[in-house]
Amino acid sequence: MARDERGVTPQSEDFSAWYNELVVKAQLVDRGPAKGTMVIRPYGYRLWEMLQAELDRRIKDTGHENAYFPLLIPESYLRREAEHVEGFSPELAVVTHAGGKELDEPLVVRPTSETIIGEMMAKWVSSHRDLPLLLNQWANVVRWELRPRMFLRTTEFLWQEGHTAHADEADAMRETLLALDLYTQVARDIAAIPVVPGEKTPGERFAGAVRTFTIEGMMRDGKALQAGTSHYMGTNFAKAFEIQYTSEAGRLELCHTTSWGMSTRMIGGVIMTHGDDKGLVLPPRLAPHQVVIVPIGRGEQGENTLAAARDLAGRLKAAGVRAHVDDRAQLSPGFRFNDWELRGVPVRLELGPRDLESGTVVMVKRLGDEGKQPVSLTSVCDLMPGVLDDFQAFLLQRATDFRDSHTSRADSWDAFAEQVTSGWASALHCGNPACENEIKAKTAATPRCIPLDGEPETGSCVHCDADSAYGRRVLFGRAY
Ligand code: AMP
Repeated sequence: MARDERGVTPQSEDFSAWYNELVVKAQLVDRGPAKGTMVIRPYGYRLWEMLQAELDRRIKDTGHENAYFPLLIPESYLRREAEHVEGFSPELAVVTHAGGKELDEPLVVRPTSETIIGEMMAKWVSSHRDLPLLLNQWANVVRWELRPRMFLRTTEFLWQEGHTAHADEADAMRETLLALDLYTQVARDIAAIPVVPGEKTPGERFAGAVRTFTIEGMMRDGKALQAGTSHYMGTNFAKAFEIQYTSEAGRLELCHTTSWGMSTRMIGGVIMTHGDDKGLVLPPRLAPHQVVIVPIGRGEQGENTLAAARDLAGRLKAAGVRAHVDDRAQLSPGFRFNDWELRGVPVRLELGPRDLESGTVVMVKRLGDEGKQPVSLTSVCDLMPGVLDDFQAFLLQRATDFRDSHTSRADSWDAFAEQVTSGWASALHCGNPACENEIKAKTAATPRCIPLDGEPETGSCVHCDADSAYGRRVLFGRAY
């Protein structure tokens, strides 16, 4: 498609411009008036709701309960955990005045809720019988980001944050990895993003955590996106907020806590994993409209095709397919076709007067080389769930092949530096934060994670030749 005013800059020309133009032109978001904020438009919000529903179901199925905590947190709460406040200070938005007066104690707009939830956990837990305490909150949070990007890094974003308290390390670690697995499943099975689950190196840990785990996805420009994180806090927050319980033996013990979050950033991940020069490509399991029917024709013919399109949409819905009729008769068919391609709808059904006469509809998939396929109006409903499943599987396979062909083992510095210009390098590393920083300064690549399924291996660091740490390879890449 020529780059008319609805087209976007090709990915190969400028991936960043492609992304920034697409999120607006596909009507996912608009810029908010305050720097770094975004307005999520109905199409974008529907995508978030689809993701949210999938995640929420899994969170509840694994025994967690939703609750809601206040947006405003007394500043002193954050100071109780030294590393936590140090890490978050530069990103805090603080309310100092309210009701026309200066407040006695400033209130922080939550950047995350460990502190206020920790305070409540201390009140609610007293005996080993109260454990584990498995909470989740759906909320907005504010982090004053210096380099905001729509969905990926906004100053206010939507997310869920799981917060749990356990009797011991083993139980809390099981929980940390369970949450990571929920994220891996949702990313892979719903968003068709073949993420790599792994542990963060100490330099990349969450402020206040003992261990941080992540899922990392590869975007179509070869960069990494941290798409969800799960933290084991040890007893750090339990000490700061006195989250304690009496054990069966009658001793007072500290709880071990966890927290885990996935945000609206995931939508940016979907866009950059599957999208192309024509626009978005949405996985059917997330797409607000899985099928769009475009009736064609004017006057009486137009009325007939519109009626048939509505009838077909009703039958598709009854078959469990999210179908939408584009009845914008004032727009040309070509315009409407391009519009739904831009907006990433997996399957388009074109229904013109001649199709109606012959009892068929023309099926066009958003990707693939089958072109336009006539399908009989009677069988299209039976066919569609399978078509959508195949499309979903195709996207996951394509993204997996892309990731694998852009990841390689790097055993020399030259190979490493070359590899991270276009993808990920799997390399041995000494674990020294100063060495990580030098690598970043030279190549802009950072350790994304130590993959959970890595083979045991030792040797010398790809950068400084010191002995490798972690007993496994580390995945490095440039990241969002
Ligand atoms: P954290 O609490 O820092 O571990 O963040 C949890 C998750 O939220 C991260 O893994 C990101 O996917 C996401 N996230 C963090 N900061 C932002 C932001 N500014 N905008 C959107 N998503 C974010």
